[in-house]
Amino acid sequence: MEPLLNADLHCHSVVSDGTLTPEALAARAKTNGVQLWALTDHDEIGGQDRAMAAAKAEGMKYLTGVEISITFAGKTIHIVGLGFDHNNEALVQGLRNTRGGRSERAKEMSDGLAKVGIVGAYEGSLKYVGNPELISRTHFARFLVETGVCKDTSEVFRKYLTENKPGFVPHRWASLENAVTWITGAGGLAVIAHPARYGLTANEEFALFTEFKNHGGRGVEVITGSHSSADALQYAETALEFELAASRGSDFHSPEESHTDLGTLPWLPGQLTPVWELLSDRIQ
Ligand code: AMP
Ligand code: MN
Ligand code: MN
Ligand code: MN
Repeated sequence: MEPLLNADLHCHSVVSDGTLTPEALAARAKTNGVQLWALTDHDEIGGQDRAMAAAKAEGMKYLTGVEISITFAGKTIHIVGLGFDHNNEALVQGLRNTRGGRSERAKEMSDGLAKVGIVGAYEGSLKYVGNPELISRTHFARFLVETGVCKDTSEVFRKYLTENKPGFVPHRWASLENAVTWITGAGGLAVIAHPARYGLTANEEFALFTEFKNHGGRGVEVITGSHSSADALQYAETALEFELAASRGSDFHSPEESHTDLGTLPWLPGQLTPVWELLSDRIQ
């Protein structure tokens, strides 16, 4: 398959913190010209059967997907998995474990917000949750916008939900080794998601890419809704330097909140190996 393929290998449904169902996402992807699609809910593969069936009904090719939260160098990093067997026991169990603890964290976040006068945030946020195991900061952000505390979700993150802000509670996610091993053990390909987003120092980033490769990781997102064109250029270089395949995905969550719609992204730079070239036998 060619690099000029409209592949969108990163987005979220109501099964995690998106606002659309897998079926509605598939229809939207198709309308936007997506040819190869993957649904990558956070730490959750419960939407995969629906997404696969919907892709087939729309006449799109499909790769199974997930976005796993990990802790590395004291920061939360996301690892996307593509083309794995979604019934693999170790993967299913590992993700179940990493989801555990989100409810307790959410209650602590709510306590933090109560201290600055925002009461009932846990209960309020639950109304936006499609999957009770997957309550996330995004659901809190929606609640704070709906109740008029902030004008949009980025303001909520800036004022309340990021490090040193009243609603921020760090969470102990899976390790880099766990995430990469679960994905590759299930026959899939592990990809570092939106590397420009983490604010890593050069040393931390070198360590992340080196350890990721040592554990068997093989890809990096170069074209994503979270990258500027300068970021894309920079990580195209990094992909070449670390001999990683390159991925492309919008990270679409919601028509109201997301800047980048499904399938509406620049092409992958031609000198890179697209991840789908390494996954041709996993495409459904
Ligand atoms: P959590 O997994 O609960 O820590 O929530 C992380 C989610 O919050 C991410 O997957 C994004 O969807 C969302 N998010 C993170 N940072 C921001 C931001 N600055 N603006 C809007 N959404 C964000
Ligand atoms: Mn999200
Ligand atoms: Mn992410
Ligand atoms: Mn994402």
